[in-house]
Amino acid sequence: MRYDYLIVGSGLFGSIFAYEANKKGKKCLVIDKRNHIGGNIYTEKAEGINVHKYGAHIFHTSNKKVWDYIQQFAQFNRYTNSPIANYKGEIYNMPFNMNTFNKLWGVVTPEEAKAKINEQIKESGITEPHNLEEQAISLVGKDIYEKLVKGYTQKQWGRPCHELPAFIIKRLPVRFTYDNNYFNDLYQGIPIGGYTQIIEKMLSGIEVRLNCDFFEHRKELENIADKIIFTGMIDQYYDYCYGELEYRSLKFEEEILDTENYQGNAVVNYNEYEVPYTRIIEHKHFEYGPQPKTVITREYPATWQKGDEPYYPMNDEKNNALYSKYKALADKEDKVIFGGRLGMYKYFDMHHVIEEALKCVTKEL
Ligand code: FAD
Repeated sequence: MRYDYLIVGSGLFGSIFAYEANKKGKKCLVIDKRNHIGGNIYTEKAEGINVHKYGAHIFHTSNKKVWDYIQQFAQFNRYTNSPIANYKGEIYNMPFNMNTFNKLWGVVTPEEAKAKINEQIKESGITEPHNLEEQAISLVGKDIYEKLVKGYTQKQWGRPCHELPAFIIKRLPVRFTYDNNYFNDLYQGIPIGGYTQIIEKMLSGIEVRLNCDFFEHRKELENIADKIIFTGMIDQYYDYCYGELEYRSLKFEEEILDTENYQGNAVVNYNEYEVPYTRIIEHKHFEYGPQPKTVITREYPATWQKGDEPYYPMNDEKNNALYSKYKALADKEDKVIFGGRLGMYKYFDMHHVIEEALKCVTKEL
């Protein structure tokens, strides 16, 4: 059997491409090395709750075209991301806003909050930050840094903040309103019924092979189609010929609890260093679930090693420079197109992936 397109990866990028190509009468084969479709947006039901198997996924965009596009495949609810931070049992609103400042210092007006932050920045005497700790204090002062930045950042990077470079934090979002909405985007929500239905609809009528790693069947697969859409790791595709790109990984620990409501919010960050996880997700709150039990996931930061799941590309100078060498090879290909967050080595939110996939479809088809 010959195909027009072999699509490696059934995540959002690969599935959009397959859907659009199929609509235009192209014959597609989609493969994925996992035992399910959907990549990292995959959700699975447990106790009647849609569990985000690869971390909390909240859809947000200001692009009307993207918002209209995704709604063909699911109805979205009015979920608004308003995470809270738990620091030694004290609860603070995120991102840092007037509710946070009121809880920290008892200030009531934006003017008072600004004065307090400026006072702390001035007290620090830092004019030229030499590391992340100094950088954060010079941006928001010591109270916010100590309670809400320090421990969390140390856990994420696996190193004390005074040993981390200043450039990691360019700015820290501070809002002088009582608005707990994390995103500023025009549109936001969670697909009622989970994300997997979106991918199922996109791939309906298209041949899909699961548990199929491109690299294990490379010889056979490379000649099965006229073109390949590759959404796996670009450095692996080129056999790491220039070296390995780096990623950040995560570990998830899921638990079903015999309680109706564990933490009262979908996302709670744990900002102190002594708690080993960075956040707990309680999935039912994404869809206002009335189920008698609940499912939670503790999310642990993890250093990535070859073979681990590569969740976040490390888009620093060193890795971006290495990626551009692979990109130069990719640009010379006429049979292979690289897409998605691993193929393009870029941290993409879902709305970015939709934009990129539609751009790719328009150019290709
Ligand atoms: P992926 O979803 O990674 O799909 C790639 C697929 O290719 C995978 O299924 C993989 O198994 C398969 N594959 C790879 N290599 C091979 C191979 N060799 N052979 C066969 N198959 C292969 N975005 C938001 O908009 N909002 C959020 O709140 C949000 N939260 C996130 C939280 C976490 C923890 C993470 C990791 C990401 C989050 N994102 C969020 C980003 C979102 O997950 C991505 O934008 C989106 O899933 C990327 O789609 P993709 O198709 O590029 O990649």
